[in-house]
Amino acid sequence: MRILIISLVISLLAGCAQNPVTGQNDFVMMSEGQEIAVGRQSDEQVKKQYKVYESKALQDYVNSVGQKIAKQSHRPGLQYHFTVLDTADINAFALPGGYVYITRGIMAYLNSEAELAAVLGHEIGHVTARHGVRQQSAAQAANIGLTIASIFVPEINNNIGQNLSNIIGGALLSGYGREHELEADRLGAVYLSRTDYNPQAIIKVIGVLKNQELKDAELAKQEGREPRRYHGLFASHPDNDTRLHQAVGEADKNATAHAHFEGRGEFLAASDGLVFNDNSEQGVVRNNRFYHGELGISLQFPEAWQVHNLSDSLVAVSPKGEARLQMKMDQKPGGSPVEYARRLAGYGANIQPLEVNGLSAALIDLPNSIGGVVYANKRAFILQGQAKTRPELAAHRDEIIGTLRSFHTLTGAERKLVKPLGIRVITARQGDTYAGLARNSPLGQSAESYLRLINASYPDGEPQPGQRIKIVE
Ligand SMILES: [Zn+2]
Repeated sequence: MRILIISLVISLLAGCAQNPVTGQNDFVMMSEGQEIAVGRQSDEQVKKQYKVYESKALQDYVNSVGQKIAKQSHRPGLQYHFTVLDTADINAFALPGGYVYITRGIMAYLNSEAELAAVLGHEIGHVTARHGVRQQSAAQAANIGLTIASIFVPEINNNIGQNLSNIIGGALLSGYGREHELEADRLGAVYLSRTDYNPQAIIKVIGVLKNQELKDAELAKQEGREPRRYHGLFASHPDNDTRLHQAVGEADKNATAHAHFEGRGEFLAASDGLVFNDNSEQGVVRNNRFYHGELGISLQFPEAWQVHNLSDSLVAVSPKGEARLQMKMDQKPGGSPVEYARRLAGYGANIQPLEVNGLSAALIDLPNSIGGVVYANKRAFILQGQAKTRPELAAHRDEIIGTLRSFHTLTGAERKLVKPLGIRVITARQGDTYAGLARNSPLGQSAESYLRLINASYPDGEPQPGQRIKIVE
């Protein structure tokens, strides 16, 4: 009986949707109008979660490339929206209904308009093949009771929206699965060839991102942050995937006879000034020193500790993980630092008044934690060090207090460091090497690797005299 109901519902709903790519009837429960509504709704969520990158010139450029490809897609009548998001994450994704996103993080690693077109073409492929919608429908079918109920409830659109955003959440993190990813690549390759971009750009982008992912695991460790890994696109297949090469080769064969447009100069001109890595709004960590421009503060964590700049706190972990330091902020502290510390730590704590680089502070000693409170720019900064055992805490005592004592308000020179890093396009001169260009780079010891990665010259390429290349400053 249950099976009968399921197949009945499926046949009632599925018939109305024809897949724009295959022309066949797809198992899809959503009309195009609903699809667009869901996309628009989810677009608001995405823009709440991520900031839109503030550069009209770059947004316009990405949009113009995207629209060109979309016109050659299987759904040329759909209204497409292309948005560059302000995050260092390496990602691109699409929502149903024509909403496509690319992060500034991934843009830094691309080197031509054709590569940008490859990323956008792949995402357009997800839209035209309705992958988001198909995934949603499969999930709905699995939860058919809910679907039957929804049909008779006026809030059906809301329900679909909510379910879909869960699924989109999953797809953003993991991609759409191997088959859908390959299909998106195949469609992307076709659209590239119709727009006179070289479909081989897809393979090139995969290679660049694989290198980035490989090297970033190491760089992330050095810098004490999470690796920036490409989530969806390409993550599911290796760059030597035979079926991928077949799909791209096929599109290449059918490409028009005239020369492919690479657009390296156009793309590099558009990338000049692009923010690289952290945006300084949440503070930056350079060589284990934390700087925050808006709060006007800085402090130095112990060498070799891993510093994690989280949204609500700053956490540093000792190399073996046995001790950690955490800093939080109180916007409206009351009383003196000693009074504040007393309220915080209780009467059992040993509290000493302290002056730290001209700031009034208090040192807190408890049996299982050592830390302090520093007042700066009308705020209280609370630092707490803990360890797994008391002897381990004692062993790290000097480092914890050293961190507290390093706390100071930003100097003029430091304010310059807080400026976000940006990409600048220069012309390589005779004798330029990435090692040479990396000297004095604000990227520190990781600079040479970064320069090679962003110029698609990893692991051992060197700039050619006269070549336009990207540096970070
Ligand atoms: Zn994808």
